[in-house]
Amino acid sequence: MNVLVLNCGSSSVRFQLVQTDPERAEAGTDRALARGHVENIGGPALLKYEAEDGRTLRESEEILEHTIAVEHVIGLLTRPDVGVIRDRREIDAVGHRVVHGGERFKASVRIDDGVIEGIEECFELAPLHNPPNVRGYRAARTLLGDTVPQVAVFDTAFHQSMPATAYLYGLPYVLYERHGIRRYGFHGTSHRFVAARLAARLGRRLDDPTLRLITCHLGNGCSVAAIRGGRSMDTSMGFTPLEGLVMGSRSGDLDPAILTHLMAKEELGPAEVNALLNKHSGLLGISGVSNDMRTLLAAEEGGNARAGQAIDIFCYRLMKYIAAYMGVLGGADGIAFAGGIGENAPAVRRRTLAPLAGLGVHVDETRNLALRGDEGEISTLPSSARAFVIPTNEELLIARDTMRLVSGLPPS
Ligand code: AMP
Repeated sequence: MNVLVLNCGSSSVRFQLVQTDPERAEAGTDRALARGHVENIGGPALLKYEAEDGRTLRESEEILEHTIAVEHVIGLLTRPDVGVIRDRREIDAVGHRVVHGGERFKASVRIDDGVIEGIEECFELAPLHNPPNVRGYRAARTLLGDTVPQVAVFDTAFHQSMPATAYLYGLPYVLYERHGIRRYGFHGTSHRFVAARLAARLGRRLDDPTLRLITCHLGNGCSVAAIRGGRSMDTSMGFTPLEGLVMGSRSGDLDPAILTHLMAKEELGPAEVNALLNKHSGLLGISGVSNDMRTLLAAEEGGNARAGQAIDIFCYRLMKYIAAYMGVLGGADGIAFAGGIGENAPAVRRRTLAPLAGLGVHVDETRNLALRGDEGEISTLPSSARAFVIPTNEELLIARDTMRLVSGLPPS
């Protein structure tokens, strides 16, 4: 089955065409036939496309809205020179990344009018993300017709298994009841994918109720999850993706009183505070150099002390979360590093895990240095908690969930 995976942002569409079926998914032999993105929708958009066999294409074109962007994507997939299918009828199903499923969506679902209403009810919780996700669904329906099944895979769904002790804030309970103020968690698709691979690497069943995993998704956005028996027990992002770790340009955890203090001192309004915490903080804000870990590591190497300090703070916060989640789970069997930073930055992994030797995590520095972008173990004996690099693949999980639901199977 060919599944078109769409990840629609406010001004972008990321896509992948994945060939999968239950046997391929089981064996891990699913194929990404083509992938790419359209960026800057609403203006002179940039299209980037890459077929499985290496044929690539870059184009710039005026693209005003999502339906036209998806039309371009389908056009590329079917173009005789770079395409990977002959006809749009070879697209059997569409899987959408949807950011917020609130408390209603606890697993991936096949989309119908009721599901769209449910996603729209979550617009308030994710005003920048859920509306373009719905636009992507409507675009695919317009272009491929009603008969091609579409599936929603939510960033929040995996964390719906968190107990109330983990998801409630120390706020008046009525605010949870009235406004849904609670921790939801994000990156669920990535944590779920990585947890399944980590369990496989440990030679354990993911749904073994004694299996304790900690997964670290470290990209531009960063989060950690504590997972028992394949179920998320806690995660570092909260009501929004701002809570938790220090990220590229997001602050992560703060004393909430800082906000009112700064609003008074610097005469900032809500929009400015929002921008400060989301766009000007984190690694970028501390270092004054960049939000990009690669640039910061190079700057530190070149003697920039504040770049080094930003990396230290990043690793320290992450180390604290991992240690806390060992408390949540009563220890850990496996710890995984994923995302651009987790997969490619041995120095970050080393600096994060070194203080955890007393909790049974011992890194083999030769193995650690050797792993960049590939899956493998970085820990050594006598570790009681083994550490791995596990490249994440959210699109693949979205394609597999879509294939399973369309085939009448439960999501994996
Ligand atoms: P992602 O959002 O998963 O694409 O991750 C983006 C982050 O990964 C950025 O902070 C990049 O600097 C970081 N990253 C990518 N490649 C490397 C690398 N080779 N070394 C260090 N960080 C990297």
